[in-house]
Amino acid sequence: MAPPHFLLVTFPAQGHINPSLQFAKRLLRVGAHVTFATAIRARHCMAESKSSSAGLSFASFSDGYDDGLDNWDDVDLYMDELDRRGSQTLSDLIALNHGNGRRFSGVFYTTLLPWAAEVARSHGIPSTLVWIQPATVLDFYYYYFHGYGDLIRSTGDNPSVPIQLPGLPPLMAGDIPSFCNAKNEYNFSLPLFQRHFEVLLEEANPRILANTFDALEPDAIRAVDKFEVIGIGPLIPSAFLDGQDPSDTSFGGDLFKSSSSYMQWLDTKPKASVIYLSFGSISVLSKPQKEEMVRALLEAGRPFLWVIRESGKEERDEDRLSFKEELEKLGMIVPWCSQVEVLSHPSVGCFVTHCGWNSTLESLVCGVPVVVFPQWSDQQTNAKLVADVWRTGVKVTPNEQGLVESGQMRRCLELVVGDGEEGEEMRRNAQKFRELAREAVKEGGSSDKSLRAFVNEVREASG
Ligand code: UDP
Repeated sequence: MAPPHFLLVTFPAQGHINPSLQFAKRLLRVGAHVTFATAIRARHCMAESKSSSAGLSFASFSDGYDDGLDNWDDVDLYMDELDRRGSQTLSDLIALNHGNGRRFSGVFYTTLLPWAAEVARSHGIPSTLVWIQPATVLDFYYYYFHGYGDLIRSTGDNPSVPIQLPGLPPLMAGDIPSFCNAKNEYNFSLPLFQRHFEVLLEEANPRILANTFDALEPDAIRAVDKFEVIGIGPLIPSAFLDGQDPSDTSFGGDLFKSSSSYMQWLDTKPKASVIYLSFGSISVLSKPQKEEMVRALLEAGRPFLWVIRESGKEERDEDRLSFKEELEKLGMIVPWCSQVEVLSHPSVGCFVTHCGWNSTLESLVCGVPVVVFPQWSDQQTNAKLVADVWRTGVKVTPNEQGLVESGQMRRCLELVVGDGEEGEEMRRNAQKFRELAREAVKEGGSSDKSLRAFVNEVREASG
């Protein structure tokens, strides 16, 4: 029987491309073929990466910005263009493949691309959402649009009242996805998530593959009975997880250029001594926030590795960090790094993270406790899970202006890396989830079994 061939449609951002590429590798491992498609602009940046394997091919669609995108300032406009141009060009891509005799057995599409399911349907191809955030967040959005919207909105006036939803931990206003906050400025966001559910619930037997695993979110995975959530994660390169493929040492699709000397520098540091700081591929700390961080790092006096992405614009005097010399004596600032490699290094003892879902999963897989500093989208909810449910880290408390002051930052760092009982407990919990993540993806583990069963079903249905 010919292997099933899937088209995997991916939103063109690092936080989607990484788990998606890893998902493609897992599909190959269980005997499927994959065409990975993302926007032309992102595909150009990925071109230097090594990600070619037998059974994996690449294609692209347009997001309306084929020659580049300077910034994400007008996200609403971008999302409109992506929908309009993406739908047309994805449809052309499928038609071209059909014309050449390649019929896709199924289309997978990542979060934020519900139109890809509509395109697949117009070609008579079944589609499946690959949810790249926690199941808890998926459930939360479902509840928001199905019976609990008024309750959630009403707590905006009273942020100290917990929102209790079936199968989820009690959430305060500051723990819910930022798109559901009263202050949300992104007009595209709620209609887009609503459309995800409309598309899904039109199916007879809606199923969602999620980058999570059963032991991590046992209740949230089963909370909503209108769809089935199948945990297939964590989607992390094999060398840092189950070790089944030691050559799989990177996601293989970086959109940013990395520096190289930091691994040797980490080699020179004692075990669990280094603080690693990164805020993912989109968020940018304000200048005053960076200055608070500088003071906290100098006062903590521990070695650090800090990722500050280059803006692409020339650095102005007022953008320069203070105390650059002192900082360079203590640590390293790099524009990008291989985060999974860094987190797997024995010298790293703490991760200061914005709590993007990939970074969160990577901290768990590597057993590194965290200081969580959420910025937007799902990150507040991820931070709640980390700090109060899994207890692998501590969350910062900003002041009334939204600034995390150096003293607060330093106290959080001390809690995580210090000798106190709380730090011990976070390190123990982080180790526990490290083991559970490995269990989930090894042969016969929950995520491995679920993905094999899913692909076998498609194989039988199309064979
Ligand atoms: N990442 C990386 N090097 C860096 C910073 C980030 O490789 O210097 C990777 C990180 O490992 C993760 C992804 O970029 O896989 C960021 O995804 P996440 O969901 O954490 O955050 P987002 O960028 O979507 O806000």
